[in-house]
Amino acid sequence: MSRDLISRDRGLLWHPYAPLDGDAPYAVHGASGTRLSLGAADGTQFEAVDAMSSWWSAVHGYRHPALDRALLDQAGRFSHVMFGGLTHEPAVQLAERLVALAPEGLDHVFFADSGSVSVEVALKLAVQYQQGCGRPERTQFLALRGGYHGDTFAAMSVCDPVDGMHAAFPSLVARQRFLPRPPAARLVGGELVADPAEVAAWIGILEETVGRHRDELAAIIVEPVLQGAGGMHVYAPAALAAARRVASENGLLLICDEIATGFGRTGKLFASEWAGVAPDIMCVGKALTGGYLTLAAMLCSAGVAAVITGSPLRTLLHGPTFMANPLACAVACASLELLASAGWQEQVARIGAGLADALAPAAGLAAVRDFRVLGAVGVVELSAPVNVPAVTRAALEHGVWVRPFRNLIYTMPPYISTSQDIAAIGAGIHAAVAQVHG
Ligand SMILES: *Cc1c(COP(=O)(O)O)cnc(C)c1O
Repeated sequence: MSRDLISRDRGLLWHPYAPLDGDAPYAVHGASGTRLSLGAADGTQFEAVDAMSSWWSAVHGYRHPALDRALLDQAGRFSHVMFGGLTHEPAVQLAERLVALAPEGLDHVFFADSGSVSVEVALKLAVQYQQGCGRPERTQFLALRGGYHGDTFAAMSVCDPVDGMHAAFPSLVARQRFLPRPPAARLVGGELVADPAEVAAWIGILEETVGRHRDELAAIIVEPVLQGAGGMHVYAPAALAAARRVASENGLLLICDEIATGFGRTGKLFASEWAGVAPDIMCVGKALTGGYLTLAAMLCSAGVAAVITGSPLRTLLHGPTFMANPLACAVACASLELLASAGWQEQVARIGAGLADALAPAAGLAAVRDFRVLGAVGVVELSAPVNVPAVTRAALEHGVWVRPFRNLIYTMPPYISTSQDIAAIGAGIHAAVAQVHG
């Protein structure tokens, strides 16, 4: 069954960042709780603990009864209606909940159908804001090296200029300004600690760059405290706090892309809380629907929204067909309710402590350069690129699903993971690295 499905897939379907005739995918036959039932191209079947939460999204695991019920209940009412001229309970309720949870002052919500699109909307909003303030020349963005903000063109332009996909589209990707990666930080006794001299030097570069280019810059965009797909880099909250201050002092907006970090993943509900700052614009996605459906949101402050409303155009220039899809909004409401009722803080704290123990043995392997944990995120960094198909297969043989990239094997398990699940993930990663990389 897996063999047949995989052979029909190959050459027909593109998978993320993979050639049409790339490594064979695994076939999913079922998913429940923290478990995936997978089949390989050679017919081998696996029951695996999911270490990836389907790319940060399935925080409550698969087939959660409350989420299944929310989806089916809404399908019994209506699955989709246009959002132009219409509204509905799931959208209003979700927006109210997001505003209540979000950092102080983020009072308005725009629903988008994916994280990348919410970043596009955030960037548009920042440019429209500067126009509305009488500064139409401010159209560029200041972003971080090592950042990742999505795959559409404007989102790509603020991704890392080397590791991102700029080179493939030289004349099409807008030229932005970049700061070095902020200095690395480590969790020590519940605090993120960095080298103060490195932080001061980085803040100096930030101030100097903004001082020189502020008349071209609309906003600073960052992934707060944890850069995800650009390298799983944990950085100093003081750098984020400085970005907040320098943005305010110079009439720039601060955009926090919380698409990966939002909803508790780093140990705070939103990662910007590590620095005690609130952005002017925030993007969320990924875990928003508990991994059930594609939905993202852009939130902004009342001050920013007022400038748009007061401008000649009066509107934010975006409006997707599937804006505020009712099924997605209904599941997202249920997911936010579950986060609160299941106690995400305790879940994430327990997973973080478990990962610190479970991944420590891997740190002793010769191939491993570093290992780090923040919230319910664990990262094992090798000195050399990971042999992805071999490590993936070896981890599956040990009952764990991982999806490494570059020189990183990382995990962000569902919040419902048990201590046994976390121990299994650590043991699986250790065994796979030992077997493949020594
Ligand atoms: C995944 C991600 C995106 C893009 O979201 P999509 O839903 O894949 O378009 C943007 N920013 C960050 C930080 C992400 O992790």
